[in-house]
Amino acid sequence: MMAALLYLGAGLGMCVVRLLNHRQGTEVKEARITQKDFPYVLAMIILDIAAPVFLMVGLTLSSAAHASLLGNFEIVATSLIALLIFQESIGKRLWAALALITLASIILSVEDLSSFTFSLGSLFVLLSCICWGFENNCTRKLAIKDPMDIVILKGFGSGLGALFLALFLKETLSGIGYILGALMLGFVAYGLSIFFYVRAQRELGAARTSAYYALAPFIGVGLSFAIFREMPNASFLVALGIMIAGAYLASSEDHAHLHEHPAITHEHRHSHKDPHHSHSHSDSFAGEHSHVHTHMPLAHSHHHTPDIHHGHIH
Ligand SMILES: [Zn+2]
Ligand SMILES: [Zn+2]
Ligand SMILES: [Zn+2]
Ligand SMILES: [Zn+2]
Ligand SMILES: [Zn+2]
Ligand SMILES: [Zn+2]
Repeated sequence: MMAALLYLGAGLGMCVVRLLNHRQGTEVKEARITQKDFPYVLAMIILDIAAPVFLMVGLTLSSAAHASLLGNFEIVATSLIALLIFQESIGKRLWAALALITLASIILSVEDLSSFTFSLGSLFVLLSCICWGFENNCTRKLAIKDPMDIVILKGFGSGLGALFLALFLKETLSGIGYILGALMLGFVAYGLSIFFYVRAQRELGAARTSAYYALAPFIGVGLSFAIFREMPNASFLVALGIMIAGAYLASSEDHAHLHEHPAITHEHRHSHKDPHHSHSHSDSFAGEHSHVHTHMPLAHSHHHTPDIHHGHIH
């Protein structure tokens, strides 16, 4: 029930933001989601509903500590699926970074590794990671489109799905205060985070984005040490060191080579600062805008990440 309210809060909140922007005329034009995107939207919503169900089953069969430990495999699943199925480029340096970030997350989330046993519950937790891995890659396919649309579709789609599931399992709604609180939390925790996740995926691709988002728990734990004026324990410091090394490797990645861009016609938000958008407009466009444009075939060499124009195979 909580998951349903969080997703619905994200969708509702984003609708309000869109309305406010519309009234003040501060909308940024972005490409809209079209019928062609429907399979990815549907997959994203179904996986969003399925993943927490698997996680819940896993939690009833094993402990919360084990589940949060295994939860770190979302990065691994996302990257493997990105590489094997969506053919996103991942170099040696990035694999090393992903390994370090995963290791650091494991150290942070586990207190006693020796008590770990692989159970049926673990299998369900891993299954939920695989769902989220596919879901991240489906969202990546939509990242060229308006991130607000994505939050609204995901919020209402996954929220209503989870709501029906909760009602089917005969869960009841508790108190209006609780509901409003959960909706607000959903807008901040889910809505804004999905929005920025999609914006990041547009520039970085699925694997790198999931690696950077793994840094968030560290900021949380670090802040709690600062706020409660506690000395961080040894395992936090070890994990922090490994995490910094991983983040450095991921961000210092140096990928440049001669590549070819085939001719393509598509719509997305862009400015004319990068070497791919040198087309001219009859009316004077300035800054960022969105419209259907055609890229002529182009071969050039420059630094790039697997962004929306650089999905080439290496
Ligand atoms: Zn490349
Ligand atoms: Zn373009
Ligand atoms: Zn333009
Ligand atoms: Zn253009
Ligand atoms: Zn290029
Ligand atoms: Zn480029």
